[in-house]
Amino acid sequence: MIASSLIDIGINLTHDSFNSDRDAVIARAAQAGVVQMIVTGSSGPSTRQAIELAQSHSGRLFATAGVHPHHASELSDDLLADLRQLAMLPEVVAVGECGLDYFRDLSPRAVQQTAFHRQLELAALVGKPVFLHQRDAHADFVAILSEHRKALAGGVAHCFTGSREELIAYLKMDLAIGITGWICDERRGSHLLPLMR
Ligand SMILES: [Zn+2]
Repeated sequence: MIASSLIDIGINLTHDSFNSDRDAVIARAAQAGVVQMIVTGSSGPSTRQAIELAQSHSGRLFATAGVHPHHASELSDDLLADLRQLAMLPEVVAVGECGLDYFRDLSPRAVQQTAFHRQLELAALVGKPVFLHQRDAHADFVAILSEHRKALAGGVAHCFTGSREELIAYLKMDLAIGITGWICDERRGSHLLPLMR
């Protein structure tokens, strides 16, 4: 049975693939009981677009402000200063998505780590939680996050598909766990389903 009201905390609604039917998608979500959605910002431009969407659907859509590890090389001092302003807007409910992705390595790992530090500092500064991305980078991810955890309002490890041990490490850090990967992709999440019982 579907609950009467759901909040989807990670929708990539700024993606080009929604250019032709974005409003229809938002309407269908409402009909299905998804009362609020948080549009993921993953770069400077997509953060601005996410905020515009949130502002034009006030109270229904919200946004995150941040730079995905794939785009970590783009996080200049100027963009960081922009994100600081954007992250303070009332429509922005979290900083991210940010983190580490050693599976694709689209930005160099040292650059990803620096961008992750800067965004965790930003989240602490604005007092908002972090929307976290991690793939094949568990040890470095936990090490960096541990340094900042006390200063953070909270965080969610979105689309978690790691091991039982990684799950326990995140829960010990008092992170929320996104289970979309478990329930939508049996190749990546089936090993975790027994843990839900
Ligand atoms: Zn992600």
